[in-house]
Amino acid sequence: MKVPFVDLKRTHDPVREDLHRAAIEVIDSGRYIGGEAVSRFESEMSATLDGQEVCGVSCATMGLFSALKACGIGPGDEVITTVHTAIATAEAISLTGARVVFCDLEPGYFFLSPGEVEHRITARTRAIIPVHLYGQPADMDPILDLAARRGLIVIEDCAQAQGARYRGRPVGTLGDLAVFSFFPSKNLGGFGDGGAVTGRDRDLVKRVRVFSDHGRESKYLHLIEGINSRLDAIQAALLRVLLPRLEDWNAHRRAAAGWYAEGLAPLSQVVIPAVLPDTLPAYHLYVVLVPDRDALQKYLEENGIGTGVHYPRPLNLQPAYEHMGHKEGTFPRAEYACRHMLSLPMHSSITREEVDYVCQTIRRFFEEHRDARGEA
Ligand SMILES: *Cc1c(COP(=O)(O)O)cnc(C)c1O
Repeated sequence: MKVPFVDLKRTHDPVREDLHRAAIEVIDSGRYIGGEAVSRFESEMSATLDGQEVCGVSCATMGLFSALKACGIGPGDEVITTVHTAIATAEAISLTGARVVFCDLEPGYFFLSPGEVEHRITARTRAIIPVHLYGQPADMDPILDLAARRGLIVIEDCAQAQGARYRGRPVGTLGDLAVFSFFPSKNLGGFGDGGAVTGRDRDLVKRVRVFSDHGRESKYLHLIEGINSRLDAIQAALLRVLLPRLEDWNAHRRAAAGWYAEGLAPLSQVVIPAVLPDTLPAYHLYVVLVPDRDALQKYLEENGIGTGVHYPRPLNLQPAYEHMGHKEGTFPRAEYACRHMLSLPMHSSITREEVDYVCQTIRRFFEEHRDARGEA
C-alpha cells in the first residue's frame, strides 16, 4: 500500500468541474486584478471570522509584513515570536527593519511559551506574533493578557490553522490582526500563492489594504509608499469554490487524528499531539515525537508511506540567523522537538485504511527495533 503525505488531486477531484468553470469565468471576464472575485471571496471568508474585515494578499509572508507595517512597526522596534515556525514569520519582522526576538515552546506543546514571551519583553518590544503551528491554537489568553498589560500588539500567524477554534472563537479573531496562507498544502490551499489579513479594527485592516496595494487610496492617489501584494482574481475565484468545504475538511482531519490516536495508543514510545483544553485544532499537520526519528522515517518510506519533518532545524540554528549568535541549547524545547518530530500523512481526504496502515507499520517498526533508545 502507498500512503502519500498529502494528496491534493484527490482533494480537488470532487470539485474539479467547478474549479474549471471558475477559472474560465475569470479568464473570460478580462478582470485579473481585484474585482468581484476578490471582494466576494473576502466577504465569504469574513463570514467565517465573525464578520471581521478581510483583505486578500499575495501570500502570508507579505501579509505578515503588511500587517506589521500597518501597525507602524519598523527600525528600533522588537517583535517576539516563536523560534519554532516557518521562516516566513521571522522574515516578515526583519523586512520591516525591526528586530526578531525568539522564544522557546511551552512545555508539552508546539506553541510559544507565554512565560518566555514575558521574560523577553523590553522597552523596545512592540508586538507578539503567536503561531498556531500545525493547526493547534496557541494559548492566547495569557498572551492577550500580557499584551494588554504591556501595551503590545498581537498578530496571529494562522497560516496553518484556518478553521481552528480557541475557547469557542475562530483563530484569527483573537489578536489585533491575523494572517492566513493559501499556499497549496495549507488547510484552505489555493493553486499558487495567496493569503489574507483580517482584524476587528476596520481602519487597521484598511491600512493593510492600502499598504499592500502601492499605498493607494484610489487609482492615482498614493497616501504612502507601499508594496504590490494583492490576491489574484483567479486565485480568489478558485478559493471561493473550496471555502465552503473547509469545515468538512477540517472535521475529517480531526477524525483522522482520532484514528491515529487509537492506532498509536499501544506505543508508549510515540507522543501524539497534545491538544489544549477547549480548543478545536485544524490539524494542518499531525506531528508525533518519537525516538529514532530518522530510522522510523526511513522505514515508513520503504513501506510506501510519505512523511515530513516540520522543521528539522529551529530558526536559531539556521544560517540566516547566525548573526544573532544563538548557540545550540539556547531553545532546548524547540531543538528537542526538531530532533524527534515526525509529520505523518494528514490531509482532508485521507482514509481510515491509510491511517490504520501507517499505525500498523509504526507498531511493526517498534517491534523490530525493541532496542530503540531514547525517550521521545
Ligand atoms: C506557510 C506559512 C507561512 C507563509 O505562508 P506563505 O503564504 O507561503 O507566504 C507563514 N507562517 C507559517 C506558520 C506557515 O506555515
